[in-house]
Amino acid sequence: MWKMEKKLFLEILNTAKQLYPKEFLCFLGGNKQKEEINEFIFIPNKANENSVYFLEQAIPFDETIIGTIHSHSNTNYKPSKADKKIFQKYPINIIISFPFGEKNYKAYNQKSEEISIKLIQ
Ligand SMILES: [Zn+2]
Repeated sequence: MWKMEKKLFLEILNTAKQLYPKEFLCFLGGNKQKEEINEFIFIPNKANENSVYFLEQAIPFDETIIGTIHSHSNTNYKPSKADKKIFQKYPINIIISFPFGEKNYKAYNQKSEEISIKLIQ
């Protein structure tokens, strides 16, 4: 099961809160074999209340990038068509939703199926 430090997750939630009502997206760094998420990586993007645009070329080509996390400015955790397209590239993808509390998230695999992640202290 994928694991992430709770401290790191809270940092991401805080960032999403600050940027609200704009959506927010960043990449997750970690170890695919160990299923560990241990950092988040920003790339330049343009965001509004409904979406985040970024240049695909801006994504660092790096083995340590193992997933994505992005916010929805509503209370919907369902991946959009565009979300599913990005999810295909990474084994772990997280959607966080308003109001960005500790439980306001869902995680998805490459096939956009819901999976569990474990927040560790
Ligand atoms: Zn989305």
